[in-house]
Amino acid sequence: MKRLYYWIKELLFPRRCMLCRRFLREQEIDLCHQCRLDAPEYPFGALNPAKQGKISGQFLDSFTAVWYYEEDVRESILRFKFRRATHLAPKFGALLAMKLLQQGPRPEEIDVLTWVPVSRRRRFRRGFDQCELLARAVGKELEIVPQRVLRKRRHTRAQSSMESVSARKANILGAYEVDKHADLRGKRVLLLDDICTTGSTMNECARVLLNAGAKEVHTAAIAAVRYHKK
Ligand SMILES: [Zn+2]
Repeated sequence: MKRLYYWIKELLFPRRCMLCRRFLREQEIDLCHQCRLDAPEYPFGALNPAKQGKISGQFLDSFTAVWYYEEDVRESILRFKFRRATHLAPKFGALLAMKLLQQGPRPEEIDVLTWVPVSRRRRFRRGFDQCELLARAVGKELEIVPQRVLRKRRHTRAQSSMESVSARKANILGAYEVDKHADLRGKRVLLLDDICTTGSTMNECARVLLNAGAKEVHTAAIAAVRYHKK
């Protein structure tokens, strides 16, 4: 009976690989075999890339990501973010949670799970906040209820439209504030974002969280831009 149900469901809604969009075989879950092997996995042990000068993140206690932001990973996140593929949120969330469980911080070392919010204007236009969906999905896996802690005070130009790290930093400085109802004193925070490009946004959010009394700010993203030493 279960097999019949599966067969009918497959016939009506064939499952696709979340990265390359190829149809999945029965035993494949979310990712096809090829993508499991070939996706550009973000390395373990790069616990604090900021300290290695890989991203700008002097306020981050740790950072991790599932993948590097390239090729099919990039396409997949863009579908999620701009083409309303919100069904991808639980899949990204499950993979990011797995990465966190393997690398840390462990769920019992996190007091507050939150996310980098979009501005109200962008949220209104898009209809959802992709990082909030991601935080809910990660929270479900880690059994932590995410909290809305940060607010974006003003609309900023898309960070991706800016080349230099200093331009990104200037663009984002003072753009976030901690909600006045949030009590972060002595708390260990896990902050989620969808993409980490230079770390400027996460770093600015971490600065604001630390100013509000947070003890530690750990960060994680679905994907991070690969660092090329110039
Ligand atoms: Zn695939």
